[in-house]
Amino acid sequence: MILDEQAREWIDVPHVERPERVERVIAVLEGSGTMAKLRPVPAREATEAELGLVHPAGMIEALREGARSGLSWVGPDARAGEGSWEATLLSVGGTLACVDAVIDGELDNAYACLRPPGHHSSADTAMGFCLFNPVAIAARHAQQRGIEKVAILDWDVHHGNGTHDIFYDDPSVLFISIHQDGLYPVGYGRAEQTGNGPGEGLTVNIPLPAGTGDAGYAAAFERVVTPAIRDLKPGLILVSAGQDPAAGDPLGRMSVTTEGFRRLATGVRELAEELCEGRLVVFQEGGYSLNHMPFCTLAVIEAIAGLSPSLDGDPMEQDVPEALGNAERAAIDAVLEVIRPT
Ligand SMILES: [Zn+2]
Repeated sequence: MILDEQAREWIDVPHVERPERVERVIAVLEGSGTMAKLRPVPAREATEAELGLVHPAGMIEALREGARSGLSWVGPDARAGEGSWEATLLSVGGTLACVDAVIDGELDNAYACLRPPGHHSSADTAMGFCLFNPVAIAARHAQQRGIEKVAILDWDVHHGNGTHDIFYDDPSVLFISIHQDGLYPVGYGRAEQTGNGPGEGLTVNIPLPAGTGDAGYAAAFERVVTPAIRDLKPGLILVSAGQDPAAGDPLGRMSVTTEGFRRLATGVRELAEELCEGRLVVFQEGGYSLNHMPFCTLAVIEAIAGLSPSLDGDPMEQDVPEALGNAERAAIDAVLEVIRPT
């Protein structure tokens, strides 16, 4: 259910989009015992033909050259550097491997735990920590394999402007973004942006006010996302799963809890089961709290895998993994200090 660890240390300067984002998720999955219940899918590098399903040759060459020439800007808030070329090829190719495994029936669904993310990158412009756009390429790849209609749900706290642009005119791909209103990139993701021409009505933007938590996201999912995806009757559902609407994320101001993410992921799994024989691939976009994000991601993975919460019950009784250095461990320690003073 989860890809092999593909944290590539390609950025050697301090940055929020860093290898630890993947490493901590892996640590939580292992520490909770969840990893042993999942099936790893080896990542592979995407081919240039696969990149070309979305991105023109000029952009592909620019990202290759950016990596070759050392740390350099390749778009607004998007950097390439040593190792970035291999990392972004694996991020795309690993996602395509998940799509293939799901279409071929080898897996019920899959979570692609990779970096760098992709949803800010349009066809020809890298942007916002993103280089290529794995979810957009995955949608085109699935269509090449005979899936006619694809639904993309993007719950990253930022608007998925790149994916939005790529499919804005397209009647075969539904793009839905739930995001914090007015956050990066400013001016994108307005509710009145609903698609163009043959794609009219197939872009759905749900900007929510800062501070929105589980109830707001559940309402958006049930009242807007669910009917839109049911109307499309897709053959595959892709999720751009940024766990940065999480409470405490340094780049967002939402307040979704682990249980809020579990509810979203359960809902999308149930929709996939209802509409497209369960075919669902979830790709990790943003999420920058090294303390909270891994637990939110654990909840997402447990939900799509149909697993019970592994850290459920009385946290005092839990053997919370030592490797995590997480806020919950610190909180539990603090509580123990109070109730059992030494
Ligand atoms: Zn984000």
